[in-house]
Amino acid sequence: MKAVCPLCGREYEGIIPPKCECGGRPRFTYDYSRVNPRAWKRRKPGVWRYKELLPPAKKIISLNEGGTPLFKAKLGEELSLNVHIKDETRNPTGSFRDRLASVAVSYGLTYAENGFIIASDGNGGASLAAYAARAEKEAFVVIPHKVDRGKLIQMIAFGARIIRYGDSVDDAIPYASELSRLNGLYDVTPANNAVGIEGQKTLAFELWEELNPTHVLVPTGSGTLLYSLYKGFKELQTLGLVEEVPELIAVQTEKCSPIAAVLEGGKSKREFTKALALYVREPPFLEEAVEAVRESGGKAVVVREEELDVGEKKLAREGVFGEYASAVVVPALMKLSEGGYFERDDRIVLLVTGSGLKSFQEERERSMISGTKLEILRILGEGEAYGYEIWERLEKPMKYQAVYQHIRELESLGLIEESRRKGRRIYYRLSPKGRRILENLEG
Ligand SMILES: [Zn+2]
Repeated sequence: MKAVCPLCGREYEGIIPPKCECGGRPRFTYDYSRVNPRAWKRRKPGVWRYKELLPPAKKIISLNEGGTPLFKAKLGEELSLNVHIKDETRNPTGSFRDRLASVAVSYGLTYAENGFIIASDGNGGASLAAYAARAEKEAFVVIPHKVDRGKLIQMIAFGARIIRYGDSVDDAIPYASELSRLNGLYDVTPANNAVGIEGQKTLAFELWEELNPTHVLVPTGSGTLLYSLYKGFKELQTLGLVEEVPELIAVQTEKCSPIAAVLEGGKSKREFTKALALYVREPPFLEEAVEAVRESGGKAVVVREEELDVGEKKLAREGVFGEYASAVVVPALMKLSEGGYFERDDRIVLLVTGSGLKSFQEERERSMISGTKLEILRILGEGEAYGYEIWERLEKPMKYQAVYQHIRELESLGLIEESRRKGRRIYYRLSPKGRRILENLEG
């Protein structure tokens, strides 16, 4: 089976470019008359449950991706709304990109003589590394200079070859394409090859089976996830299973908001955001993402950088540890809810796309240092002090035990250290790392 350009009829094999030479968008189309959704129910959950709607593969490379849990959010009760969390952190490598990797590696195996390549800001690289390892193929990952540490460690653990290139993933995309051509590598970067979209669209099928949502809040960087959901829901519509595509709500950060700017007007910033996976200056799927939001009757929401911590904490209260790039959906929901956007019986989904365990460490630590901990750092910034003295200087209605607990946590984070002992008194001082973080926090 091939992908076909709906405008000029040109057929594509192997790498399916997102854009045809004529400007059309080659698509994998399927024999929809042969799809029987009742057969899905008899299969185990996961991406390959929907195999009739996936590109053909001689051999399936799977780690049981997809079939991730969907559960009610407590946050919904607070807002008197029906809100569910789709927890994509529960995929094999901790992000939704495993859906892409399983399908792209299985389909691409025939074309990947010398291995696979992807340009990625983290999650995609970690996913490809795992699936290529399982397929016994080499994986090359082109990453920008700043990548979440945990994602990098995953790539290394799975034996990927890492190539650092450029400031954001935008720079890495054409470079990966070039390397792919020169070295006979199968390029699974979604901006260069639409095959991964087919894997990611299974999220729409799962959401339909589980909830049939009316609204889906989608963390948006490159726009591929939005477009994947749109394609999935459109196929369900073609099959007569849904009347309409749910409202797709694109969520970006204020610092990097090119897609939101097209949709809602306003300034398009393209600056660095600590939600690293959303730092895409020139979204390769901008047009498609805009189409997906508009056609679904959705909108775009922009959240402030400070709201990422709020989002992360609220997700944590649900028992979900998401990366900043996922946590954006929480402040977006609150904003829309305050504005009276939702109806009481709407079925709303928050997509949590990737695990917080993968994130950039120093950013994380900074976000954990607030309130009393920050005050303790400030006190020690003026010179060494012992526990009781710190407690006194805080002048807070707080038990000494609670302050001592903060001191111990700061010590275990390596931000303060013992400087000396005098009798039973232990004096503390800032460690070099603590001083650096304090200086950063104080701006
Ligand atoms: Zn064409």
